[in-house]
Amino acid sequence: MAYRIVVDAGHGGSDPGAVSGNLREKDFTTKAADYMYQRFQELGIPVVATRTDDRTLTREERLNTMRSLGTDSEVIILSNHINSGGREFSYRC
Ligand SMILES: [Zn+2]
Repeated sequence: MAYRIVVDAGHGGSDPGAVSGNLREKDFTTKAADYMYQRFQELGIPVVATRTDDRTLTREERLNTMRSLGTDSEVIILSNHINSGGREFSYRC
C-alpha cells in the first residue's frame, strides 16, 4: 500500500475555533498539523497540508486540498481539532 496523507489544521484566520481566555484552538491545531506534516515528510510519506499559516479557508478550499491526493482508500485525512470540554481548555502533547 502506498498511503498518502492530508493533514488538516482545523479553523484558522477569522475562525479561531474554541476560545478560552487568550487560548485559541486554531493556534494549537496549526502547531499540531505543522509537526505532523514535517514528520510525514521526514518519513518519506506523501503528504499535503490544507494550510500552513493562519489564514481563513473556505470549505471548498479545504476540500480541494483534501481531494488533491485522490479519493481512494489509500488517502488518509487527519483533521486536527481540540475540544474545549466545557469550562476548561486542555492541551496535551
Ligand atoms: Zn475545532
